[in-house]
This record gives sequence, structure tokens and C-alpha cells, in this order.
Amino acid sequence: MGALPLLRAHVSRPVTTSPRDFETTSLPESLTVLNPATEEVVAEIPTVSPEQVAVAVERAAKAQQAWAALAPGDRARLLRRFADGVDARIDELADLEVTEAGHTLGNARWEAGNARDLLEYAAGGVERLIGRQIPVAGGLDVTFHEPLGVVGVIAPWNFPMPIAAWGFAPALAAGNAVLLKPAETTPLTALLLQDIALAAGLPEGLFQVLPGHGRITGQAIVDHPGVRKIVFTGSTPVGKEIMSRCASGLKRVTLELGGKSPNIVFADADLQRAAASAPMAFLDNSGQDCCARTRILVQREVYDDFLALVAPAIEAVRVGDPRDAATEMGPLISAVQRDRVRSYLTDDVPVLARGKAPEGPGFWQAPMLLAPEDAGCRAATEEIFGPVAVVLPFDDEADALRLANATRYGLSGSLWTRDIGRAVRMARGVNAGNLSVNSHSSVRYWTPFGGFGESGLGRELGPDALAHFTETKNVFISTED
Ligand code: NDP
Repeated sequence: MGALPLLRAHVSRPVTTSPRDFETTSLPESLTVLNPATEEVVAEIPTVSPEQVAVAVERAAKAQQAWAALAPGDRARLLRRFADGVDARIDELADLEVTEAGHTLGNARWEAGNARDLLEYAAGGVERLIGRQIPVAGGLDVTFHEPLGVVGVIAPWNFPMPIAAWGFAPALAAGNAVLLKPAETTPLTALLLQDIALAAGLPEGLFQVLPGHGRITGQAIVDHPGVRKIVFTGSTPVGKEIMSRCASGLKRVTLELGGKSPNIVFADADLQRAAASAPMAFLDNSGQDCCARTRILVQREVYDDFLALVAPAIEAVRVGDPRDAATEMGPLISAVQRDRVRSYLTDDVPVLARGKAPEGPGFWQAPMLLAPEDAGCRAATEEIFGPVAVVLPFDDEADALRLANATRYGLSGSLWTRDIGRAVRMARGVNAGNLSVNSHSSVRYWTPFGGFGESGLGRELGPDALAHFTETKNVFISTED
């Protein structure tokens, strides 16, 4: 694919704003987007400056007022058209996702479909954003869900389309305007989504995509007083920093910060099923998945049998050209990420399974299963965000729970057992926001998603998704004469 023409940025007007303490580093004024499977340059995208962010906020605020004043049915109709536009261009969106993120074509199509589904789901919620009538003496008391205003969505590179849509779809549906900052490695699908939104008839300025560096463009969105909520997905340190920056303006914040999720296999489980699921439960999206089950905990009595099934399956995973329909795993997003992953592959941690990957060019890393002797080592406790898992044995339920909860994270996890009582006991005991029993699925847009501990703050998706982008207003109307 050749270089893309610059898609609209809507922020080109010069501006005058009061100066703020933006970090002025010598970062380049354009983003060079690489294909991670080939290292070829696929696009150069100008970055958005803090001054341009201020202009974008002004435009968004104007557009938001008109948007919130629309009849709910009209807002819903426009969002459905946006969803239809995504549907009509799924191939193009998927192609961009493969090109800039290195995702397999099947995954990329799923991701574009997820963004479409989210828009449809959110559109369906517009007319169900219902307040309450509360019994009071001397009058009528009702609650309203008022939109927040302008919302900033700071998206990561691992699932650029779905995670952006988890923020922008419910935010728009609830009557807000959205400024979306995509990760600098993956701005292309976001820019195309912006075009699709405009073509669908969403007002100019309502949904603006602002590509740029996190520390400049992202921080300018976070710091702008006109932005009333930040939805951030990314690393825990950046999440904490964003939260502290939001504190001064009491800005709302939702943080989704990754994990180190357990995949707990009891001796009474269907071992074949558990073993068939385990490889892709941590290798999907090359392991760059906040819900990846990267700590495989296996009851001691079936430890050897389980590994005899899983190790060859990991070694057989097909890693290569993401456009090839037979490929199961593509490259990592960048050289930085590949080097970060490799920093965990130290000689002192035994390797139980080692898959194959192309040499390069491209940011390749073979799947690896490690068996650390020390459950407290870096590889067993830190989020690697690559195709690497550890396996550890446990003795009984209490031991499994101890190991499962021996982490500062708490995003998701799986339990494999045929004992329903055990499944419920364990599910209640594991400190995580999203658990699955005899499955490794994590994300369903109609159920709430979010983490315990350092996996984040707040919830996305699910039936309350729109309400998270509103303030509740209570109005009392006296009925006294
Ligand atoms: P970051 O947390 O740095 O980036 C996530 C997003 O935040 C990007 O859009 C980034 O922009 C932006 N950003 C960075 N700094 C700031 C800031 N100060 N203010 C506002 N926005 C900012 O993650 P990395 O890309 O560096 O990945 C590092 C690690 O984070 C991974 O190895 C993984 O462990 C974890 N991670 C977790 C994710 C999850 O799904 N929970 C997703 C991505 C990463 P820019 O792209 O310009 O840096």
C-alpha cells in the first residue's frame, strides 16, 4: 500500500490560547507510520500541536451543544449511519489495521466489525438513557442524564479500532463531542473513521481525530479545561500520570491499564479443551492484549499431561505474513515493543516451548512458554505484552487463589473445571474484573469491562456505558400552590 493522503485533521487554523506547561521536547512534527511486518513506511501524518488541540476543543464544544439539542431519535439515526458507513468500509478499515498494526486479516475484520457493533449498540442506547422519578413530599423529583461536554479518548495501538470505539461510541450517543488521540504507531484507521463519521452526517467538529505524540498532543487534551472526561487505555504509569493531571480540574477519568491474567486449570477440567484454548489465550494479537492469559496455573497432578498437550501446540502456531489466511500470529507493533518483550527472556528462566517466527525485516518474536522457578520473577509478575507466558504448578484451590491474586493487576482470567461449586468459589475469589469459566473470552460489548487494582479504574461497555458519559442532574418541582 502506498502512502496515504493526509485525511482531514480539522485543526489547521492558527490559534491564540493562554500558554500552558506543555512539555516541549524535540519530537518530530509528523508521525512516520510503519508496516510492522515489513518495516516499510506506509504514511507520514502531521502531528497536532497543543495550540491546535485548543482550537479542536472550541469546535467540539460548539458542535456538542447542537448535537445534545437534537432529538434522541435523530442522534441515534446518525450514529446508525456511522455504523453503516463502517460496515460498508470494513475491508478498507481491516486493510489499514493489517498494514499499520500487523494484525492478522481475520482479527482486523473482527475489530472493524466490533467498532460497527459498538456504534449500533450505543445508538440503541440513546433512547434508553432514561432518568428516574423519585417519590418525594411536596413535589415531583426527576433525574436527567446530562452529557459531560467534550470527552478525550486516548487510544492504544494494540486494538486501535475497538478500543477507540469503546470510548467514542457511547460518548457520542450520550450527547458528547469526542477528541480521539490514536497511538502514534496506529493513526490510520482512526482518521478513516473520522471521514466515515463526517460522510454519515455527524456535525463537523463533533468527532475529531488528533494524531500526535502522547506527551504533547495527548497531554494537551488531558490538560485542557474544556475537556470534561478522559478515557485512557495504555500503560499503568501513563494512566497514573493522566489521573493525577485530571485531578486539578476534577476531570472524570476512566483507565484501562492492562494485566497479567491467570489461566487456571484444575485436574477435573476437560484437559483437551483447556489445552486447545491456552495457546491463543496468550498469543492472540501477538500477545499484545490486556486480557492475555499469560500466567498458566496448572494443578500439579495434571501438570505434565497438560504441558504435553500445550507445548507442541504453541510450537506449531503459524507466525508470519498477517495477510495470509493461514497465519495465526503476526509481528509485534514496533522495535521498541519487541525489545521490551525480549528483555524478559533471560537465561535464568527455563523455556518449555519455543515457537518459530520470521527473521525479519519486521518486528518478529516467536511464541514462548517459560517455567520460572521463582513465581515472583519479572516474567511472572510484569505485563510483557508479547507472545510470552509462564506456567506454574499449584496444589489445591487455596494455592491456586494465592497464585492467581499474587499480582498488582486484576483485569481478567480463566478457570477450567467441571465442578460448578469450585468455579463459583474461584470466580468470587479471584481479584479481576472479567472472568470466564471454561472459556478464554473476555470482551463482549454488552457486558461491563474493566479492572481491579492496577488494571484500571471505572468500567467500559455494557448496559451502563452511556451513563458513564453523563452527569446525573436531580430536579425538584414544587407542587405547592
Ligand atoms: P502508553 O501508555 O505510553 O500509550 C498509550 C496511549 O497513551 C498512546 O496513545 C500514547 O501516545 C498515549 N500517551 C502516552 N503518554 C501520554 C501522556 N503523558 N499523556 C497523554 N497520552 C499519553 O503505552 P506504550 O505504547 O508505551 O506501551 C507500553 C506498555 O503499555 C505495553 O508494553 C503494555 O504493557 C502497556 N499497554 C497496555 C495497553 C492496554 O490495552 N491496557 C495498551 C497499550 C500498551 P503515543 O502513542 O504517542 O505514545
